[in-house]
Amino acid sequence: MNDADYARAGAAATPTSILIAPAPVLRQKARPVQPEDMSALKAALPGMFSAMYAAPGIGLAAPQVGVSQRYVIVDVGEEEERQPMVLINPEVIQESQVLSPYEEGCLSLPNQYAEVIRPDAVKVRWRSVDGELCEREVDGLLGRCIQHEIDHLDGVLFVDHLSTLRRNMIMRRLAKEQKLKR
Ligand code: ZN
Repeated sequence: MNDADYARAGAAATPTSILIAPAPVLRQKARPVQPEDMSALKAALPGMFSAMYAAPGIGLAAPQVGVSQRYVIVDVGEEEERQPMVLINPEVIQESQVLSPYEEGCLSLPNQYAEVIRPDAVKVRWRSVDGELCEREVDGLLGRCIQHEIDHLDGVLFVDHLSTLRRNMIMRRLAKEQKLKR
């Protein structure tokens, strides 16, 4: 099965529940995926794709579904033209000097958005589900999304890139909205 097969399997899978901040696992540094983790990882993928597409979102990291391991899924494609990717043990190995702002949101911080400044392009290295070592330079929305998802593996949320004042404001607003929902 390739990335697209897992994404397609997501259509029939029950969406995994996505944890909302301040869930403690979102603040943990996730551990690297080991070969013995692969069968459970593959079994988890359809539910993760299902949850990401249902949200809808363009990226989801394992810690957001309560698994403190280093893997993420992304898809910045349109509904008619999906571009699913599974990145295992991803790392940024090079960053552009040029930085750019972009409005980010996060499925673990529903309804909260802020402009975040990050490198415009990054070179990323990861393992595919087949164990193949991949390397690619990514920019635009995909580059942005992958950087955001890799942050999750280090317990970092997009609000951590903002001023303390702005971060506290967003976290308070989120807590208030979540309380009203209950
Ligand atoms: Zn996120």
